Amino acid sequence: MNKRNVTIYLTIIGLLLILTLSLYAVSFADREPAVSLAAATNVLATPTKAKPASFDGSRALADVQTQVDFGPRIVGTAGHAKIREWIRAELESANWLVEVQQTERMGHPIFNIIAKRNTESPQIILGAHYDTRMYADHDPTPGIQAMPVPGANDGASGVAVLLELARTLPEDSVPTWLVFFDAEDNGNIAGWDWILGSRAFVEEIPVQPKAVVIVDMIGDADLNIYLEMNSNKEIRAEIWSTAASLGYGDKFINEEKFSILDDHTPFLEKGIPAVDIIDFDYPHYHTTQDTPDKVSAGSLKAVGDTLLKWIVGHPR
Ligand SMILES: [Zn+2]
Repeated sequence: MNKRNVTIYLTIIGLLLILTLSLYAVSFADREPAVSLAAATNVLATPTKAKPASFDGSRALADVQTQVDFGPRIVGTAGHAKIREWIRAELESANWLVEVQQTERMGHPIFNIIAKRNTESPQIILGAHYDTRMYADHDPTPGIQAMPVPGANDGASGVAVLLELARTLPEDSVPTWLVFFDAEDNGNIAGWDWILGSRAFVEEIPVQPKAVVIVDMIGDADLNIYLEMNSNKEIRAEIWSTAASLGYGDKFINEEKFSILDDHTPFLEKGIPAVDIIDFDYPHYHTTQDTPDKVSAGSLKAVGDTLLKWIVGHPR
């Protein structure tokens, strides 16, 4: 080998070395994300974060059927007593603490069911009414107008969403109360008024949450939830944009349509930011046709997924 050959030989060896080292470096760099991913998976698999945050629309729909099977949930009836027991049992089996605010308005007993995870005061309150209307006075058939409303959408759908959220909300979420309001739905009937339960709650329970969100009539298979006009605009925008980010922009329609008196009203009157999520375009409203076949698992899930993501996104 002459000097020139040696130089060429050494250059080739040098180049091969550089190539080998580069390949090694690249393969190591490739492996790095896999290592972090495995570490992340391990973190997620630790027992404190074990609860899968997935809202099951079919389970919520089954809960709508269960409630309608109890019969009408009119204040003072057997169906009302049954649903109160059942809501408590479902919440306790999902590890929530249950308290009942027992009071009275206009001579009627009121039972607001309050679910908490711990003793922290709530930053968010999610609410739904569980009672059903005494009379189907919107029914087109006059003879039927004195019959009770089955309340699959108007009553049961909101309760079903709250119960499925009770099962799926991560335990380390921002402090949240789930409140099942009584006596919402007997307005325009002698001796009654609307929203007796939520009024009693606001009058007697001294809390100052940052946000109150009411769900009512959100199970319609043809779901069109417009922005409710009295609702807090900032929170409303947060929830509607969360829905859009999940692909539910066709169900949460970003336009104002109705101005509604509902369980959010007493909170707004007290200066507490509150939103009403309601689909008021429901042809079976206050009729005997408000039955579970009009409600869909997909609609319940759209609302449940949206609220779950919105709450989980809230810093503690
Ligand atoms: Zn109603």
